[in-house]
Amino acid sequence: MDSHLFFRNALLAWAANHLRPMPWKGERDPYKIWLSEIILQQTRVEQGLPYYEKFVTAYPTVTDLAHAPEDELFKLWEGLGYYSRARNLHFTAKYIAGELGGHFPDTYETIRALKGVGDYTAAAIASFAYNLPHAVLDGNVYRVLARFFGIETPTDTPAAKKEFTRLANAVLDTTQPGVFNQAMMDFGATHCTPQQPACPTCPVQTQCVAFQTGKVREIPLKSKAPAKKERFFCYAVFNAGADTFVRKRMGKDIWRGLFEFPAIEWNSRPELPEGHAALRQWLLEQFFSNGNAPDFSVIHISKPYRQTLTHRQVTAVFIEINLTEELPENISIAPPFSGTLRLPRTDLKKNIAVPRLIDWYLREKAGTLSLF
Ligand code: SF4
Repeated sequence: MDSHLFFRNALLAWAANHLRPMPWKGERDPYKIWLSEIILQQTRVEQGLPYYEKFVTAYPTVTDLAHAPEDELFKLWEGLGYYSRARNLHFTAKYIAGELGGHFPDTYETIRALKGVGDYTAAAIASFAYNLPHAVLDGNVYRVLARFFGIETPTDTPAAKKEFTRLANAVLDTTQPGVFNQAMMDFGATHCTPQQPACPTCPVQTQCVAFQTGKVREIPLKSKAPAKKERFFCYAVFNAGADTFVRKRMGKDIWRGLFEFPAIEWNSRPELPEGHAALRQWLLEQFFSNGNAPDFSVIHISKPYRQTLTHRQVTAVFIEINLTEELPENISIAPPFSGTLRLPRTDLKKNIAVPRLIDWYLREKAGTLSLF
């Protein structure tokens, strides 16, 4: 039997008994499929599942999502990271509700044209919702195909994308593309896994090139990943009585739309001065360059917190500062309070969304000090 046909039949037979139950499995509503796929981009299924439930409950239709206030949507998204996904979700929902009368696009090309939707997500929506013959291609599919067919092209290159797209569509069962795509994804996620593929019980083992040639540990190949750029933040957590100050990140940068404490940033690791007097002087220079510093005292310096983003490695320290005099009403126009929002510290976790790294800090603070 030709290897494409063998693979297709064996995979579908395997799927009949092994598909993972998920709330979106068998779902035909393109809006809910889209939602689940966007949530699952760069997110593990176990982590994404409660978010999917929360979103479907809060916004049962694309029009409901379109009408959600951005801060509310970000709050619901908090903890998932990669906030550009939430922004694109909102933008696209508004576009569908406003420009398309609430009707989700129903061809691969029109789905692919939506903001935040790439080849993989478009193929998933097209095949699951409309049974259109487009093969999904994610990390799981790359791995399964590379191993089964013994392909040694590094999978993170443009050449590989073309080669694997062609192959994925060649093995696709075009009579039931949704079922087949689901089978491929689940097979890669649960059977032909990156570290511990279950080769001894594998239904395609007899024709799997990687298995037959002893290359399962080597395939798929990757070219060398470039080093991540490092960024360093020093956050000033000001305590003004029961209040603190935060501001919304704007511009084309990481964490746009999320809230953070007033910050200074470096491209290389800074050395914080030792000793209270030296640190105080340093803070005056860094944060109060206009010379208008209210009276303050430093009460805590955190350990470094690190968060890894797609192209960045971010490290932050948090310096907690008590402001010991009453602040003027118009303080939010003077650095470092420019553009800040003054709010009770107890509201920090309730109403605004913060980057994951700040969330970790707040959680640990909540456990160690009564201030938060
Ligand atoms: S034999 Fe092993 S490597 Fe080959 S497809 Fe099956 S699980 Fe993957």
